[in-house]
Amino acid sequence: MLPDHLQQRLAAAAQQRQQCPRGRYAPSPTGPQHLGNLRTALLSWLITRLQGGEWLLRLDDLDTPRNRPGAEAAIVADLRWLGLSWDGPLIRQSERRGLYATVLSSLRRAGALYPCRCSRRMLADISAPHGAAPVYPGFCRHQPQAWGPQQGRLPSWRLALQPGWLEWCEQLGPSGRLDAQDAVGDVVLRRADGFLAYHLATAVDELSLGISDVVRGADLWAATAPQVAVIERLGGTPPRYWHLPLWQDAAGQRLSKREQAAGLEPLRQQGLDGPAVVGMLAASLGLVPPGSRLSALELQQQWSLEALRQPLSVASKT
Ligand code: GLU
Repeated sequence: MLPDHLQQRLAAAAQQRQQCPRGRYAPSPTGPQHLGNLRTALLSWLITRLQGGEWLLRLDDLDTPRNRPGAEAAIVADLRWLGLSWDGPLIRQSERRGLYATVLSSLRRAGALYPCRCSRRMLADISAPHGAAPVYPGFCRHQPQAWGPQQGRLPSWRLALQPGWLEWCEQLGPSGRLDAQDAVGDVVLRRADGFLAYHLATAVDELSLGISDVVRGADLWAATAPQVAVIERLGGTPPRYWHLPLWQDAAGQRLSKREQAAGLEPLRQQGLDGPAVVGMLAASLGLVPPGSRLSALELQQQWSLEALRQPLSVASKT
């Protein structure tokens, strides 16, 4: 389905993944990183380094209206301050649009996509009550396909999911399995305004960068299913996923929501340095006693990947 050069690129990435594990931290430069994000970064770094792997930093900056000036520089500075070094150059999704567009056209040519003209408003009216994730009921799936503008509006492009389970190897969260039709629904890969969707870019990146382990917040657990659908449609194997619960204050220092959201700046102002904050983040996962001070490298020296599973499974249940 994909052009030869891309097929070869993905095959090379899959092969390199066999040889060397790769993790990534993929923040969106929409504002300051809160402590939950930084804890995810630390754990992603740790899980990758404990396997002797490479750790990449990728900026999810495709949704340009949400990007904030200075956010990228602040992310880089925060990670350095915590002693989390990444391999290779910083990767920006905004510089990889050509790659995503090539994949998208290949999917379209292969008949995997269909144009959808349902408005957000119309979908909001039919979506499940009480905040359950809305599942697109497939209204446009069997309409004649018209990709051009109608009444000045272009359609969004949806991926037609095959019926059945979407499954992935989940290391931390609830087991990775969602029903494509009942729980996921045909997802948008290109929005009507022309923006490329997060699911598309993320799936293409995991494959083309040879990512073996995705560590991220539990709020993205359900987002895994559509990403797995794209990866599998492209003939790839999904990475392993570690969905880390959002910050709980049962272990380590107690932090209010406001403190947590404020990120590192107030902590620095209180005089805390990198090792104190690494200790705080690690203590919140039960990896060190509260009040510990240590560098990220020292944390790495204290743990093995196998030993890490026990405190992480406790942290996931609290
Ligand atoms: N950029 C996304 C976020 O900051 C995370 C993407 C991911 O890890 O897949 O929420």
